[in-house]
Amino acid sequence: MKLTVIPVESYEKVVRCDDPEYDLTAFIAVHDTTLGPALGGVRMWPYASWQEALTDVKRLAQGMTYKSAVADTGLGGGKAVIIGDPKRHKSAPLLRAMGRFIHTFNGTYMAAEDVGMNESDMEVLREETPYVTGLPQRYGSSGNPAPFTAFGVFLGMQVCLERHLHTDRFDGVRIAVQGCGNVAQFLCRHLHEAGAQLIVTDVDTVKATHFAERYGAQAVAPEAIYHCACDIYAPCALGGTLNDDTISQLRCQIVAGSANNQCLGPEHGAMLKARNILYAPDFVINAGGVINISVELEPDGYDASQAWAKVRHIAAVLPDIFDLADREHITTEHAARQLATRKLAAHRRTAATLTAARVHQIGGSVDADTAHSLVD
Ligand code: NAD
Repeated sequence: MKLTVIPVESYEKVVRCDDPEYDLTAFIAVHDTTLGPALGGVRMWPYASWQEALTDVKRLAQGMTYKSAVADTGLGGGKAVIIGDPKRHKSAPLLRAMGRFIHTFNGTYMAAEDVGMNESDMEVLREETPYVTGLPQRYGSSGNPAPFTAFGVFLGMQVCLERHLHTDRFDGVRIAVQGCGNVAQFLCRHLHEAGAQLIVTDVDTVKATHFAERYGAQAVAPEAIYHCACDIYAPCALGGTLNDDTISQLRCQIVAGSANNQCLGPEHGAMLKARNILYAPDFVINAGGVINISVELEPDGYDASQAWAKVRHIAAVLPDIFDLADREHITTEHAARQLATRKLAAHRRTAATLTAARVHQIGGSVDADTAHSLVD
């Protein structure tokens, strides 16, 4: 196994792993561990180049830092990517080699499930390293995060309805859900039970038809979802669906969904704001899964009822983000990032003060800036 450290400004550690014996090329990025060990999913994807994989792992790791900071999970941000098509290239030896790569981080990076991986793959990683979360509950772990992610999105939608449409009821509210996958199935169940009218789509038409039958939804073609007249557009497929092409087509008042990195660029948050569409920042509203995982790392171990209660934090923090955005005339995404960076800065200040106090206690003296650099 060949490990190459890649220096990246403002990232704590980025490493590339090449293990030709097992056909493994992978990256792990630890963005920030100020608040705790870096937690983030392992994604397996057929990236066109290693540069594309590196860009993705960095972007996703940084997103995890913000997500965990806003959600108060006590965790930092990291991510791992494996280059390859999971349907064709995934094998137990490759996953075990990946497990050994994860282990070289000594717990500063902890793995979880992401696109292209499933629960049994996580069990294979676990054979090589204990730093794997979200395993089946028989391991004392927290299991599938999707129901928690979906519940957080549901609560977040309710906050958006109150804020923007002045109602807390879903009766008759029209919601266009993009992607009929793992999270969407739990989300659609909540919404259907609450009386919402659903419009669904998936590139896999069998899934969309199944959802239509199960939730009394209207199934539409993938490209039609953007211009459906609705109250909420819920991106629950892949990232980047809020872009120059799609935003002008939207006929919704709110965007709130589970997908990561919904806005292709920062300008797209501004485009939504200009159209008076309220955007629930993705890394805030989809944090239910990581909140659930953080509970398994508590000293007393995993407790599902505690996880459900903690997911409610999403509904408490969203109004603060909307208020901040209004006050400072910035996008909701910008406000959420500001909140995250303030939390990180506050934690660093506290740590610096404690360091200075300890140095003083053992007979030395140190000014705040030096203490800060010791902590950094
Ligand atoms: P999933 O793979 O189970 O579902 C995604 C679905 O989207 C699939 O059915 C796929 O066919 C469909 N899809 C892909 N491209 C599409 C397109 N262009 N149009 C319509 N449908 C399309 O994934 P998931 O676990 O449900 O996650 C959904 C999203 O939420 C992802 O972006 C994921 O990163 C994010 N997310 C998931 C969790 C979680 O707990 N699983 C947590 C946080 C964020």
